[in-house]
Amino acid sequence: MPRPEPGLWAPVPAPALFQYLPMPTGARQELMPGCRNRLKMAFVFPILVFPDFMVLLIRVSLLGPGLQRTLHGSHQMHLVALFILPQLHFSRNTKNKESKFMRRADLHVHTHASSDASFSPEEVFSIAKARGLSALTFSDHDTTDSIAEGRRLAPIYEVDFLPGIEITSSWCEIPAHVLCFFKDGPLPSLQEFLAAKIWSVGKQFNLAMLDYLQGQGKDVTLAEYDAEVEIQEESESTALYHLLVKKGIVSDQKSFTAMREASGVRILRPPVPEVIKACHEAGGIAVIAHPGHDTGVVFTFDEENIADLAAEGLNGVEVFHPAHTDAQEEEYVRISDSLGLVKTGGSDMHIPRPEPQKMVGGTYGDWDEIVEYIEKK
Ligand SMILES: [Zn+2]
Ligand SMILES: [Zn+2]
Repeated sequence: MPRPEPGLWAPVPAPALFQYLPMPTGARQELMPGCRNRLKMAFVFPILVFPDFMVLLIRVSLLGPGLQRTLHGSHQMHLVALFILPQLHFSRNTKNKESKFMRRADLHVHTHASSDASFSPEEVFSIAKARGLSALTFSDHDTTDSIAEGRRLAPIYEVDFLPGIEITSSWCEIPAHVLCFFKDGPLPSLQEFLAAKIWSVGKQFNLAMLDYLQGQGKDVTLAEYDAEVEIQEESESTALYHLLVKKGIVSDQKSFTAMREASGVRILRPPVPEVIKACHEAGGIAVIAHPGHDTGVVFTFDEENIADLAAEGLNGVEVFHPAHTDAQEEEYVRISDSLGLVKTGGSDMHIPRPEPQKMVGGTYGDWDEIVEYIEKK
């Protein structure tokens, strides 16, 4: 099973950490060395116990020019700190298995183009480089906004970049995620597909909810909704909520959610075969994302489902994912090989996490297998 290899995750000696910790500018000159270390230990201890504190610390340090100078005035230092500090925590929990791939590729990483992710494209590349990855993919939710930046950064960091996207889809009326990878492109048809089938889902849902509310005798009109969208600018998702609060139809988020659930209104995302087709038309290959991620929120795919999708043109399976158990990985390797599907893997990183397998490069696939598959297409 691909996991972090020895060395990469080895503990960082504590003194090496100190130079990356921010200190008030004046303190650097005035304090005795011993005092300075005690001050620094005040930062180190919470990091050991609570790695997210470290991230907060770094984010805060980015704000202050004085603190930046103590980090040697280099933005790169922040990135190094972002990479090194969590290792102290990670190294205690990692099995340190050896990689079985010559070239590792994290083919599922979210950047801040995804509304639920926080890393900039450059932060992702910096970590990927530090971890010796051969390649990576940005798989942002329903958007290709970070692809141009990925292409720009790849030669700078000498990490291959395979443009991608994670499209929200459905299968058997349950949400499912499809990863698409584009050697060249994606072609403009992908944007047209996203606009028509994905980005308009919020609006379709709100209009269906308005119909439902009017059917229930509530005093709320389409004109009022349109006016609220203007006020909220582009945020269709919150416009309906704000309007209903103003009209006294719901009192808070909880009652709004309860009303939505009671309404039974659902707008389904396009089914997986439709997404596969759109991906092919845009010049890409389609891979079913985290098929064994059994959260009750997304569909869990077994051999029969995957065989059905293979008949619809599915190209691959994301075999290596942080949510998969060892047994699931083995099973998906077997299924993929028997159906002639390409096997991919990735960390699905969204935000800094204490689990090593969920950080950039913590879970990965075989870059050589992907390259060979795509070249043959
Ligand atoms: Zn997903
Ligand atoms: Zn994802």
